[in-house]
Amino acid sequence: MKKIQSGHIVILGAGESGIGTAILAKKYGWTVFVSDFGAISEKFKVSLVDLEVNWEENKHSVDELLRADLIVKSPGISPKVAAVVAAREAGIKVISEIEFAGYYSTAKTICITGSNGKTTSALLTHHILKNAGLNVGLAGNIGDSYAKQVAENAYDWFVLELSSFQLDDMYEFKADIAVLLNITPDHLDRYDNKMENYSASKFRIIQNQTEDDWFIYNFDDPIISSYVNTSDIKAKKAPFSLTKEFDQGGYLNDNQQIIINTNKQQFTMSIHDLALKGKHNAQNSLASGITSRILEIRKEVVRESLSDFVNVEHRLEFVAKVHGIEFINDSKATNVNSTWFALESMDKPTVWIVGGVDKGNDYSELFELVKDKVKAIVCLGKDNNKIMEAFAELDIELYEAGSALEAVAYGYRLASKDESVLLSPACASFDLFENYEERGNAFKKAVRSL
Ligand code: ADP
Repeated sequence: MKKIQSGHIVILGAGESGIGTAILAKKYGWTVFVSDFGAISEKFKVSLVDLEVNWEENKHSVDELLRADLIVKSPGISPKVAAVVAAREAGIKVISEIEFAGYYSTAKTICITGSNGKTTSALLTHHILKNAGLNVGLAGNIGDSYAKQVAENAYDWFVLELSSFQLDDMYEFKADIAVLLNITPDHLDRYDNKMENYSASKFRIIQNQTEDDWFIYNFDDPIISSYVNTSDIKAKKAPFSLTKEFDQGGYLNDNQQIIINTNKQQFTMSIHDLALKGKHNAQNSLASGITSRILEIRKEVVRESLSDFVNVEHRLEFVAKVHGIEFINDSKATNVNSTWFALESMDKPTVWIVGGVDKGNDYSELFELVKDKVKAIVCLGKDNNKIMEAFAELDIELYEAGSALEAVAYGYRLASKDESVLLSPACASFDLFENYEERGNAFKKAVRSL
């Protein structure tokens, strides 16, 4: 990657990525100013003092921004913030932490994006590569900041989980292996409610790729396959599908096996041996498996890693069985598509706990599955009207709960032995909870207190 001339850098947002950027910038001789529109946490203030950089909180001073040679903006900050608009109008380059860290990293990158499954696939890919003995780091939307790790470690490979917000401010960065899992509606509020704007952001994952690079993508996703059919993609392509076979890529065959074909070699594994269950996870396992086989990781290592992987919490997480009723925590399902896959994977009659802050959901996409799998719906949100109205036509029992405790109590009452209670909200959590983790933890605590 190219090195750039150091100068004065302004970092917007003093969170994990902002502090990491400050560490890397200082290392390469930049003068640094950090600006946060909110209050900076004590922990990060200590880091800023240690780094001996200037900073401000509760504001973005336009004067300070206009002094910058380069601005690095946290992905959480909207590009429409007045100070950012002013800086761009003044011709100052505004980039993401990933772009900046890329200037100083010599590691090869596996970049993973999609509307759902990024964290799971990034962790799984990292797990396989690490088991294979590669000197590999994990960063992006996950764990320690990429910039900090570039400053402090010398990895040969990085697995990077990238959100659309991060991709938006990436220009020269290139993925050696790009993985695109799916594109379904999410975060449309940041994209003028236009799906094409959000999709365009996701396709930045393949920008700057050459014939030497790889693009691994979900063939079954209509937006992705139509883009691939109509675009000139330079990278080598390795699609995956749950139905269609490929000579180069991966698929699920009629015998419930995943098949991965790369470099004229075939890898086969029964989906029953995969650690992660459900069709969406078969896709995640295919994507991570293809990546690993492209890197020529031994089949035994791939097989073992795909079977012993333990996912992080709140993603179709089994909590407990109480009197034969299975409780499952999928609190991270914050949009309709992720909940679709959760319901799809349920093999017993299910009491479904749904609700929270609706991001413009179209619940009709779930009707077929709900008819097929759900015996009762418990709405867990401050305002449940939209959900209640949407599902009213299905002739299914509907209840309202004001807390996780109440929702779990309903679940326990409504489900019978050998049935399931699934929390898969399809909504954001911040009406009743701080975040999806708090929601999932409240659910688990309530289950354990039954
Ligand atoms: P992300 O990092 O993209 O938010 P996660 O791996 O954290 O993705 O999973 C978020 C939610 O989406 C969880 O509820 C999970 O069960 C579901 N999910 C995981 N992988 C997929 C996939 N490939 N397609 C659809 N939903 C998925």
